[in-house]
Amino acid sequence: MSNIVETSCKRCKKPIATLVKSFYGCDKLQKQFGGICSDCISPEERQDLLTKMGMAIADNLRGMRR
Ligand SMILES: [Zn+2]
Repeated sequence: MSNIVETSCKRCKKPIATLVKSFYGCDKLQKQFGGICSDCISPEERQDLLTKMGMAIADNLRGMRR
């Protein structure tokens, strides 16, 4: 069973491998950044992704302690 699928970048159409399931546990990030290859993501977007990913991970950790 594989969780990786081949897709193509939304911007340059380059084939990329992506996770079927949520992107670091956050569906919103998956929608926003999941179809973009690392060549097309801008530094601003990468920073935004890292910030949101950090927040999503923090939320997940908080959720686990409940
Ligand atoms: Zn691309």
